[in-house]
Amino acid sequence: MPEIQALGIDVGSTTTKIVGVDESGQMVWHLLEPAEPRVAEQVEHFLECARQEAGSLERIPVVATGYGRRLVRLATRQVTEISCHAREIFREFDHGGTLVDIGGQDSKVIGISPQGKVLDFVMNDKCSAGTGRFLENTASRLQVPLDCLGEEALSTSEEVSISSTCTVFAESEVISLIANGVPLRSILRGLHRSLIKRIVAMVRTVGLVPPLMLSGGVAQNPAIRQLLEEETGERVILPLYPQLVGAQGAALIAMEMRRTES
Ligand code: ADP
Repeated sequence: MPEIQALGIDVGSTTTKIVGVDESGQMVWHLLEPAEPRVAEQVEHFLECARQEAGSLERIPVVATGYGRRLVRLATRQVTEISCHAREIFREFDHGGTLVDIGGQDSKVIGISPQGKVLDFVMNDKCSAGTGRFLENTASRLQVPLDCLGEEALSTSEEVSISSTCTVFAESEVISLIANGVPLRSILRGLHRSLIKRIVAMVRTVGLVPPLMLSGGVAQNPAIRQLLEEETGERVILPLYPQLVGAQGAALIAMEMRRTES
């Protein structure tokens, strides 16, 4: 197995991710776990796993990103998720475009230049209605496994419009629709549509420059991709590991630091 030469750690609000890259910037190791309230302890555990994998972390630069990046005391540098996402997207696709990142508790739209630079971005971290949490809450309330939500939503063309714009009210609305005999799958389709409409409003703010790309844990939901394509009329491209893009970008930046220092 190729050696880990640099590490990127993404301390998200819902999951914590760490990625190790080799000299060429290829991912050779990773770990992903649900975020724990004791962030510093979890980060220490991740770095201990990396230490075991790499033998020693002494000469290995670590770049931290994500909302909890400042809690990674061992980090050589802390970098915003926006920069890390743009960096990895450019490595993987070798072009720019418009990236939609939907995480557990925030969502972002980033305009990336053909040379991989961040041109513009918008971020929603104030309202959970445009994030993974919106679907997660309903999934657990309706006892639908998270990774079946998208398929369920796509299994019908009948869609119920969800009028509530807030996660908490949407949950009550869903319960009342179920009580009125509305099929679950039509409700789920409507919920996905509601999330996507919020995302598309953000895309319009930044301005859609194709190709349109999708990252974050929610990118693994097939209905999100399909409805985003429907609403924008653009084909949506997914990176190989959508949920790891931030950590991969951080590891790449760490690798570049290593190269310039040696
Ligand atoms: P963050 O970086 O903000 O912590 P992530 O990018 O890790 O968030 O995304 C977490 C979100 O991804 C969760 O809210 C969850 O809803 C969603 N998610 C993870 N796996 C899947 C899956 N297989 N299908 C649908 N959604 C998923």
